Amino acid sequence: MQGLMQQPPLLISTILRHAARHHAAGEIVSKTTEGAIHRTTYAALESRARRLTRVLARLGIGEQDRVGTLAWNGYRHLEVYYAAPGMGAICHTINPRLHPDDIAFIITHAGDAVLFADTSFTALLETIAPRLKDCVRAIVLMTESANMPALALPSGMALHCYDDLMDAADDDFTWPSFEETTASALCYTSGTTGRPKGVLYSHRSTVLHAYAISMPDVLCLRATDRILPVVPMFHVNAWGIPYGAALAGTSLVLPGRHLDGASLHALLNAERVNFTCGVPTVWMVLLAHLRATGGRLDTLRRIMTGGSACPPLLIEAFGAEHGVAVEHGWGMTELSPVGTYNTPKPVHADLGTAERDHLMLKQGRVLAGIDMKIVDGDGRELPWDGAAFGDLKVCGPWVCSAYYGDAPGSALDTDGWFATGDVATIDPDGLMEITDRSKDVIKSGGEWISSITLENIALSHPDVAEAAVIAAHHPKWDERPVLIVVAREGRTIDPEDLLRVYAGKVAKWWLPDAVVVVPELPHTATGKLQKTALRARYRDHLGAGG
Ligand code: AMP
Repeated sequence: MQGLMQQPPLLISTILRHAARHHAAGEIVSKTTEGAIHRTTYAALESRARRLTRVLARLGIGEQDRVGTLAWNGYRHLEVYYAAPGMGAICHTINPRLHPDDIAFIITHAGDAVLFADTSFTALLETIAPRLKDCVRAIVLMTESANMPALALPSGMALHCYDDLMDAADDDFTWPSFEETTASALCYTSGTTGRPKGVLYSHRSTVLHAYAISMPDVLCLRATDRILPVVPMFHVNAWGIPYGAALAGTSLVLPGRHLDGASLHALLNAERVNFTCGVPTVWMVLLAHLRATGGRLDTLRRIMTGGSACPPLLIEAFGAEHGVAVEHGWGMTELSPVGTYNTPKPVHADLGTAERDHLMLKQGRVLAGIDMKIVDGDGRELPWDGAAFGDLKVCGPWVCSAYYGDAPGSALDTDGWFATGDVATIDPDGLMEITDRSKDVIKSGGEWISSITLENIALSHPDVAEAAVIAAHHPKWDERPVLIVVAREGRTIDPEDLLRVYAGKVAKWWLPDAVVVVPELPHTATGKLQKTALRARYRDHLGAGG
């Protein structure tokens, strides 16, 4: 017998309509590329998104056409976020920090018909436009006519001004209904090895993810909150915040391209932000700015950090110096992206500060709806004892099943699990801790050494600003850890003194065989340590030869 409940499809337009009807005055504040503050509301966003669907139709966009964006976090980008999927097209967010060759590859692979871009990317557009002329028919610069730059584009590729197109359109449009499994958005993985791969989200996966991240033990989004996503809208839908915030009626503060410590500090205070989200590098930069200027955080209460491991210093320093809680989450493009979030259970209530801070470094427990397991090299499930570590696999309604253009289900194993490429432990309370990317783990004498654990311990040394541990070839042990560090400003690192921080914290055979001090470490376009480059450079550092 079938249940007798209504079955409206879970569509992204329903999130926007909800926000417009029930949180009409909820604010969306944007710092524009030009540096001005722009204010709008959820009610106006909904009407402008309808207007934009009319513009998209005039540009020839139809169902399931790909609409590319090369843009910072701002209100026009948000309008595309809702208009394209709302009308049944696909919003394809592109990471402008990637190499131009990768960007051109991604746009042609996705077959984007139109590109919406911020004026900061005009030079990039001119460079890649000749390679895009078989798919991209038009480029729309997201600005007003007074700020329109001249742009040399190949013949047949039109150039438009966003505000002019919007001014000429009306909002006479009704959000259509269609199957909730319809594709809504596309985002390519950063691709540290090989070509980037496209993850194609659906309306259903996006809406379910938005509900899940809003829950109290995750982002705990409320109508009274003011959230500033530093995480870019071009990287995995800004962790789903543009959708989750609208669902809850939370006000959004969008920082545009101004992501340095001083700009963020000013915006956080001026816009009374109480919650902000982004990668650890951003918080390290903000912390350094606050320390250098003696600046205070007037209204900020919580920082969500994710995207790479949270350095212990972040939790300690923001807690002790600013009374701000740093919360740790884990995810990936293939998971929409949030998979786990670290919030305490009753069993953690009586822990002391040091124990709790240590626990907070874990990546957390799964969001309801996702399941996870760790397996050994033969695929056998490992115990949840907080010690055994193995390949982390996940499944659930917002986990990808195949990459864009590949056969359905081709990203899954025979039992329907997705291998994340991360190596992790899970403790008896269900808290997962990433110990490595599977390609970064150090395999020494048949045993595994976690590079992240060694990095975190190095970062607890007062002279160390940044640390990376990589596997170097070793004639006897196959691989051994090498620690590469950057000194804090005004400090000098003494390798022997640094190695003493490991005493009593790890087994002796985990100790790095060498310490290399460098002026800076390489990062990927999404701010993660570029270990491939470091491995290439220091693979033979122990003199073992390949
Ligand atoms: P991306 O798809 O670019 O978001 O990258 C996803 C990868 O980033 C994951 O598979 C992890 O290796 C890494 N990652 C994300 N969040 C964390 C975290 N909190 N701690 C450690 N690594 C993380």
